[in-house]
Amino acid sequence: MKKWEENIRRVVPYTPGEQPDIPGMIKLNTNENPYPPAPGVRRALREMKEESFRLYPDPACSVLTEALARRYNRPKEQFFAGVGSDDVLAMAFLTFFNSKRPILFPDITYSFYPVWAELFGIPYERPALDEEFRIVKEDYERENGGIIFPNPNAPTGLYMELAEVEDIIRKNPDVIVIVDEAYVDFAGPSAIELVDRYDNLLVVQTFSKSRSMAGMRIGFAVGNPCLIRYLNDVKYSFNSYTMSRAALELGAEAVKDEAYFQKNIKKLTATRERTKKELKALGFRFPDSGANFIFASHESCPAKEIFEALRRRQIYVRYFDAPRLHNYLRITVGTDDEMDALLKALKEITAR
Ligand SMILES: *Cc1c(COP(=O)(O)O)cnc(C)c1O
Repeated sequence: MKKWEENIRRVVPYTPGEQPDIPGMIKLNTNENPYPPAPGVRRALREMKEESFRLYPDPACSVLTEALARRYNRPKEQFFAGVGSDDVLAMAFLTFFNSKRPILFPDITYSFYPVWAELFGIPYERPALDEEFRIVKEDYERENGGIIFPNPNAPTGLYMELAEVEDIIRKNPDVIVIVDEAYVDFAGPSAIELVDRYDNLLVVQTFSKSRSMAGMRIGFAVGNPCLIRYLNDVKYSFNSYTMSRAALELGAEAVKDEAYFQKNIKKLTATRERTKKELKALGFRFPDSGANFIFASHESCPAKEIFEALRRRQIYVRYFDAPRLHNYLRITVGTDDEMDALLKALKEITAR
């Protein structure tokens, strides 16, 4: 080992989902939306002015936070925007999780949380999900330095009723509770409606899934203005121009088209429900997903074998080689045609 290596910050990084680019492949491995973003997004891109490239962006991200404020009918001071929710979440970890007490998040959850905790030197504990993969809310009543969980949870897809989420927030008034709602648009009511009542709540959402804009990298947080100011202080101490002008303009455009958004969600959830029925008929079991993916396990065929057999047919799903997860596949809900191809392949693979 070189002497200088002693001074290097060494981390075990998050492993992002594979991004293969093979003609004709069916990509169901990173929970992208199979449909295009709102038509106004493409129009705005076509009409984008030279200034959008030449000039620095607005560090306050105002066009986007104002569009979001109108959409959610609340003050723009409650909004913070970032380069995907990963950026927003990383800033939130750095800003709000600064206690010597451990933060809490589930043992099975978004695998970026432990990576940020390690990177920022935040102590953490991971209460186990129950046998049915549910978050046990009583586990979040112990002393802690902050709480974060996704709702719906990933990779299980399970949505926790808002009353239970509220319980966790109410019982932890002295720490910040972050609810990561990457998939909430496919599930049920958002905790955003609790923001006025709980000053310790930060809700984080993304444009990557329900708004079909993973490639643009847009995420946002909603919380009381005091939390948002603290978040901005950290952001301005790190990188004040996080979001590109293009992302801000196109993101704002996407938020304006509510009808398209609703139609997109409806189409996707209909496909999800149909896929659940057909998977069940093929011998798969899964938690009842409220997200745009299904976390499924087959009664006799090992998940790893199915994963590899699908891959040979250029159908990509996600497999986690981890305790309690190794017999499950996380399958993103695609178009109806993609699901038909998947189901046909699964039928052949599991019949053997
Ligand atoms: C996809 C996802 C994110 C990150 O999404 P971005 O693309 O960075 O906006 C955050 N949390 C969970 C639980 C996710 O599944």
